[in-house]
Formats: sequence, C-alpha cells, structure tokens
Amino acid sequence: MKYALVTGGSRGIGRAVCIKLAKMGYTVIVNYMSNDAEAQKTLELIAEAGSTGELLKFDVADYDACAAAIEGWQQAHPDDYIEVLVNNAGIRRDNLMVFMEPTDFDKVLKTNLFSFYNVTRQVLTKMLRKKYGRIINMASLSGLKGLPGQCNYSAAKGGLIASTKALAQEIGRKGVTVNAVAPGFVKTDMVEGLDEAELKKTIPMNRFGEPEEIAALVGFLASSEAGYITGECISINGGLYS
Ligand code: NAP
Repeated sequence: MKYALVTGGSRGIGRAVCIKLAKMGYTVIVNYMSNDAEAQKTLELIAEAGSTGELLKFDVADYDACAAAIEGWQQAHPDDYIEVLVNNAGIRRDNLMVFMEPTDFDKVLKTNLFSFYNVTRQVLTKMLRKKYGRIINMASLSGLKGLPGQCNYSAAKGGLIASTKALAQEIGRKGVTVNAVAPGFVKTDMVEGLDEAELKKTIPMNRFGEPEEIAALVGFLASSEAGYITGECISINGGLYS
C-alpha cells in the first residue's frame, strides 16, 4: 500500500486533496483538529473514490502531539512509510496590526508555519531512506504579495514558502521533492464572510477557485511525473497575482 498524509483533510481544500490522492491509488491518512463528522465524511468520499483511508486526529501546531500521533501510526505500520505529505491545515485570524492580539499572531504562525516543521520532521527520515517522497505545502497568495489585515497569515505563508525552498535544497539528491502551492481565493469555509461578489471583480477569471482545482495541482506535484520540480511555489489564483 502507498500512503499519503494530508493535514487538515476533513474539509475544504484538504478534503479535495484526499479524494484526488485516493483516485491516484493512495491510502489516505486524514488529519484534522476537531470536526469528527466532516472527517468521517472525507473517509466516505475516499471510499467512493475507490481507495481506503484512516483518521489521525492531532493538532499540527503542537510538536509533541504530531510526534506522538505519527510515531503511533508508524509503529502500527512497521513495513510502510508515508511517501506523500501534504501540509495543508491552516487557519486565519485577520485583523489590522493595531488591533491584532498576540494570541492571534501566535496561533496563526503556529498552525500555518510551525506545523510544517512539526509534521514534516516526523516523516522525513523514512522518505530519505526510501529515496522517494513528495512534500507539498499549502501556502497562499498572501505569502507572496502580503495582504492588509493579514500580517500574521502573510508572515506564516511567506515563511512557509521560504522554508519549502530551503528544505528542497537540503534533500533534492535523495529523490524527495518539496514544493508549495499558493492559491488565491478558493470556495471553502475559510472564505466565509468575505464579499465574493465584490472580490471576484478583482480576479481576471472573475470567480473564486474550486477546491478540486487546487487538488489537481497538488495531485500532479505528488505524482512521479513531477520528479524534476522542487523548491517551487506555484500560484493558482485565476490571474489575480503573478
Ligand atoms: P478550511 O475549509 O477552513 O479547512 C481547514 C482544515 O484545517 C480543516 O480540515 C481543519 O480541521 C484543519 N485544521 C485547522 N487547524 C488545525 C490544527 N491545528 N491541526 C489540524 N488540523 C487543523 O480551510 P481551507 O480553505 O480548505 O484551507 C486549507 C489550506 O489552504 C490552509 O492552509 C489555507 O491557509 C490555505 N489557503 C486557503 C485559501 C482559500 O481561499 N480557501 C486560499 C489560500 C490558501 P477541522 O475540520 O477539525 O477544524
């Protein structure tokens, strides 16, 4: 069996990625934080896509929790390894800097950026030993351009892009690729409350993206065909920014 781990796989883009990887023949380990019902639904959709999955509930912002959960999984699967890791879990807590509380800066950095280290470190050694792996990080337009009201989120995603490039250079010769994907606006729970009608006027494609469109790009980067792409951050934003 070939295993893929998707953090934040219970909803939104992460769920679409789980389904895409299931269609590619992966057994999908679905990480999430709290929404048991939605995580269960993702498992059902993985089954409908013709594969199997398992839930692995832990907080990606907590190093010890990541280590315990992934070590536990590895002990239960001594002959297997996670060959695709999609670091997708993320949150936003937008506010202007003058109003932003320290907890909102801290939480967004820990969940969107520290998580990359917390989770990747647990699976990396096995990927290197096997001389094959794919790591895909969910960045954002905000991490490339910087967006007002998102000093925390822009910092986290910008840091994630830089760390993607650094790790790619550390491990390229081991056959493990590391790339980032930077979506613009995508129709998920995360953009609830935003004025879609107004915002889409700023997008050349005149619409928000669909989670499945992001998943298609992640699926390509996860494939063996993408073996010569590493250290990249690929924008997928309907032409909003390049
Ligand atoms: P979403 O619909 O809000 O889903 C977020 C997912 O992350 C959920 O599965 C959630 O689990 C999980 N999660 C949140 N905090 C977690 C934690 N501490 N530990 C483990 N799992 C956690 O968000 P989305 O729009 O699909 O976003 C997915 C990724 O794409 C994020 O990194 C986001 O920053 C990025 N992105 C999104 C957009 C957009 O427009 N939607 C644009 C650019 C980038 P529960 O279900 O348990 O809460």
